[in-house]
Amino acid sequence: VTRSDADDPLGGVRPGRRRSFWLREALAAEPAALAADVAAPPFAGRGRFDVAILGGGYTGLWTALRIRELEPAATVVIVEQDLCGTGPSGRNGGFVTGWWDELPSMIHQFGDAEALRTARALDAAIAALGPWTAAHGVDAGLVERGFLQVSAAPAQDGAWLEATEACARLGEGDRWQALAPAEVAERARSPVFRAGAFMPGAGTVQPARLARGLRRVALEQGIVIHERTVATMPAEESGRRSAAPRGPIEVATSSAEGGGVIEAGHVVVATNAWAGRWRPVAGRLLNWSSYIVVTEPVPDVLAEIGWTGGEGIADARFTLHYGRTTADGRIALGGGGGRAAFGGRIGPSFTDDAGAARRAADGLRRWFPALAGVRIEDAWGGPIDITDDHRAWFGTRPGGRIHHGLGYSGNGVAPAILGGRILAALATDRARDDEDASLPIVGDGATPRAFPPEPLRTVGARVFREAMVRREQAEEAGAVPGRLVREISRIPRRLGYHLGPE
Ligand SMILES: Cc1cc2nc3c(=O)[nH]c(=O)nc-3n(C[C@H](O)[C@H](O)[C@H](O)COP(=O)(O)OP(=O)(O)OC[C@H]3O[C@@H](n4cnc5c(N)ncnc54)[C@H](O)[C@@H]3O)c2cc1C
Repeated sequence: VTRSDADDPLGGVRPGRRRSFWLREALAAEPAALAADVAAPPFAGRGRFDVAILGGGYTGLWTALRIRELEPAATVVIVEQDLCGTGPSGRNGGFVTGWWDELPSMIHQFGDAEALRTARALDAAIAALGPWTAAHGVDAGLVERGFLQVSAAPAQDGAWLEATEACARLGEGDRWQALAPAEVAERARSPVFRAGAFMPGAGTVQPARLARGLRRVALEQGIVIHERTVATMPAEESGRRSAAPRGPIEVATSSAEGGGVIEAGHVVVATNAWAGRWRPVAGRLLNWSSYIVVTEPVPDVLAEIGWTGGEGIADARFTLHYGRTTADGRIALGGGGGRAAFGGRIGPSFTDDAGAARRAADGLRRWFPALAGVRIEDAWGGPIDITDDHRAWFGTRPGGRIHHGLGYSGNGVAPAILGGRILAALATDRARDDEDASLPIVGDGATPRAFPPEPLRTVGARVFREAMVRREQAEEAGAVPGRLVREISRIPRRLGYHLGPE
């Protein structure tokens, strides 16, 4: 169906491969001395480092900075295929949220005490973000005004209750509190918002400013960064112990300058969804697209709907909508049901899917009809690496020298801070006595369940997604979803995956 411009919810804007609105804004604010080509030349030839980090997003950058703290003399290189922050770290929604809403599944997996320790560790990482940005002069646009989850249809009512009750039972009831409809309306008035829950220890950032700020500080601290350089994923090592001394791990690279080899004592794979094709983890990641639209500045509309407190808002759909405001009074809203990628490949469906961007724009106007005539200024997408339990997992491959932090499942801004602490401990041989590395999200016990092999995985994910989009559209329209749609949407749960409705 081709829509005429008059009823195109994107008003003619199309997503594409260009830099996101956030990243353009962040790059424009940088001094010329930081221009990518000057500071971070491509890599070619041979080089030797204590730690090689593959991927220059939040995970890679936080890891490098934490290694600098733990072992100031260590030599560290980051290899990034494009520019640091051009991946999801520079194009996400900017929600900085804790794991209190995930507490029941963590309790199920790790028990009360360890689940609590993990959620508290993430809160501590979030609490350290403001002081870190202040100490380093990074203007990441951090707004610490909390996170609001709402029900935007009767079928979503009470989606948070199991988690708010678990928090209360474990003495952390103020971390994730249920709100009555009137309390939700005090924060934002929408004809479709019902009750909700509030997480006070959360916030939002301008995501690309954070990523670029991390890059600037990393360079200042002597981290070597090579951009526009593609790394080949390291080969698996043998887990068997051998008395013979081992040579460094070799990472092959390619760039416009030619081929290269980086030798390293430890390698950290921080390539997020691009690890979807790395054999050791590929079966446990499902790459899914998510799209965001951003409006022109609309401070008057924000005042009209009473959304002036700066809290990020998400509904409780599976194909979730998430919206936040910006310093200049815009709304950025994402979600609405992207697609799964075959074999983990990051192709055009992650950048050019106008249908997914339209669904995000439709979702925005369903929340706030007052935005009907407001112009959409940009739309973009990116990959989300989903695991069965919706949480990042950190680990070390056999041989003990290749580490990974992956599977953030669309919640990586805050977890990558903690992830950097964990990965730095692993890459400096501190796994045994480090508090962060001893969290239950690290190691074999945290390994998420494998998804079915291809082509079943993608076909299954697409059929399931179609059913979920239809089911949730029907629920939002006040209709009862068809039986087939209901049955299909329940299949993942029946197969034992933690995805979709019961
Ligand atoms: C549209 C969207 C909205 C999101 N919204 C939120 C949100 O509001 N809150 C939240 O917490 N999370 C959100 N997320 C998730 C969050 O963005 C990620 O979890 C987080 O950025 C992960 O950081 P990372 O460093 O692990 O990955 P990335 O930022 O993806 O960094 C990985 C880097 O590796 C590079 N790379 C890949 N392969 C290679 C290679 N072979 N060689 C060299 N470099 C390579 C990539 O170019 C990339 O820069 C969202 C994601 C998307 C896509």
